[in-house]
Amino acid sequence: MRHCNSVFSANDIWFLLDKGKFTQRKLYLASCPICSKKMALYSYFDNDSKNYFEQYFYSGGVARIKEKLKRDVTSTMLGFKTKYKTPSGFKYGKNIEIKKMGKVVGIKQYACDFYGNKILVKKLDNG
Ligand SMILES: [Zn+2]
Repeated sequence: MRHCNSVFSANDIWFLLDKGKFTQRKLYLASCPICSKKMALYSYFDNDSKNYFEQYFYSGGVARIKEKLKRDVTSTMLGFKTKYKTPSGFKYGKNIEIKKMGKVVGIKQYACDFYGNKILVKKLDNG
């Protein structure tokens, strides 16, 4: 996440259910280490345009986007840390679709860091 010309990692990440054409939805939460402003970064993939989108929220907007998205949370990074004892330093989640005969039959969720490490935290089966 970025603010005050600095780049820092999120304190928590919410992993969100797919919503129509929007997949890989995540909400990153942090406070800027320079100015302590509360911030949220909402990111998602648009399957129509095949593009990733990012949207920043600040201060009061953070509470509003959390309120709006909390029903869609499947798991959180802090939840992973306590429940699965994921080593600290993992920065983001990655969903990998499991396909059979071209059909998505499940999703594997990984916690990843920026050094190529990943750990499987959850496997979801369709249906
Ligand atoms: Zn700042």
